[in-house]
Amino acid sequence: MSRIVILGGGESGTGAAVLAKKQGFDVFLSDKGKLGKDYAEMLRKWDIPFEEGGHSEELILNADEVIKSPGIPNSAPLIQKLTSQGTHIISEIEFAGRYDRARRICITGSNGKTTTTSLIYHLLSQAGLNVGLGGNIGKSYAYQVATSDHDIYVLEISSFQLDNMYDFKADIAIITNITPDHLDRYNHDMEEYVKAKFRITRNMSSEDCFIFCSDDEITINHLNKIVVKAKQLPFTQKTEVAQGAFVKDDKIVIRYQDSECDMYIRELALGGRHNVYNSMAAAIAAKVMDIDNGTIREALSSFQPVEHRLEKVASVGGVLYVNDSKATNVDAAWYALECQKQPVVWIVGGTDKGNDYSSLVPLAREKVRAMVCMGVDNHKFHESFDGVVPEIVEASSAHEAVQLASRLAKKGDVVLLSPCCASFDLFRNYEDRGEQFKAEVRKL
Ligand code: ADP
Repeated sequence: MSRIVILGGGESGTGAAVLAKKQGFDVFLSDKGKLGKDYAEMLRKWDIPFEEGGHSEELILNADEVIKSPGIPNSAPLIQKLTSQGTHIISEIEFAGRYDRARRICITGSNGKTTTTSLIYHLLSQAGLNVGLGGNIGKSYAYQVATSDHDIYVLEISSFQLDNMYDFKADIAIITNITPDHLDRYNHDMEEYVKAKFRITRNMSSEDCFIFCSDDEITINHLNKIVVKAKQLPFTQKTEVAQGAFVKDDKIVIRYQDSECDMYIRELALGGRHNVYNSMAAAIAAKVMDIDNGTIREALSSFQPVEHRLEKVASVGGVLYVNDSKATNVDAAWYALECQKQPVVWIVGGTDKGNDYSSLVPLAREKVRAMVCMGVDNHKFHESFDGVVPEIVEASSAHEAVQLASRLAKKGDVVLLSPCCASFDLFRNYEDRGEQFKAEVRKL
């Protein structure tokens, strides 16, 4: 019996272990940290041996194949050892793909993955299709392949998951956009990061569809250098396209084969220019899946925003509080500022990933009344925005940040948490940061 070892026992690792067990492999799971209670319970229930709090090499190096959680970098000593002895290392998505006959719509990109994935899932569900949602979002894809029977999967796939994909094929692949992010995991090499994203188009044939943003220079430059066999369906806000989606006057227009669907931008449930892109990408996928125009319009106008993405929290004393805690990079914050119509008190800060804030300066000058820097080290914000934004103050907790912002804001303003940074200096993760922000707003 061949032996599969799974490294990392989170959502994806546990799901992969269950599927491997179901397929009859000799399975072992190892996690350097402590397993969540639910995951440990699940492994016991499925009678899968595991260890936590460290890796026993003698139980791992004898694997025929290793499934690695996306959180473990290739530079980890154990991964290096496995690689040098020639052990095949794959991702949960690659593994699950081997046992799944469903159609797959896969979404990657620097920003907009979760929003676009959720939009597509909503569209297909509204159309009454038997669809599963997975990847970087919701329940593990492998777990669903093991335990349910969906006709279609909509999968959000991060570049870390793409790194260990080889034979997996998407039927519809989407790259929302590519902007610098996570470069620390790619030797600070943008080319490497771009290539990782484009792995989503691997193995595709002329029957398949590749949906991408043709306004995104990085995407287009790379696309011009490689061969993608899939049908190319661009979305753009700049020009009209024969196939794909574009903006005409105050509508989005989607064209696929000889069918066309249009919809007023004001009727889209999600506001902001970035969400026009996301809605167009989702609508193209829906068209390819042969969903009728009425359902597409209905679904794109009824979608509920995903938590922590430009989420309206409350209006207090005529000031609107918006939680965009998921804006962990500069580009996401750019779109958040861009769509604000009222003066902004902007809460920023956190762990800097080598950010360059210069693209935000014109928007900050035009729209931002005051900034609250909520981080351990705020010096880069001062360097970039001193003299641009009239007032910049510092806070070291969500409580302090919301209190300061509420004093700085005037009636009619927006207090926007769109931090441009990861959250690990003061918070557990971006969800924790968003939750704490919302709790503080509700106390006002
Ligand atoms: P991801 O899953 O790729 O991180 P999300 O949908 O969770 O993307 O959104 C992350 C952040 O990026 C949010 O602040 C959101 O408002 C912003 N955003 C969403 N779509 C886009 C887009 N197409 N371009 C730029 N920023 C976006």
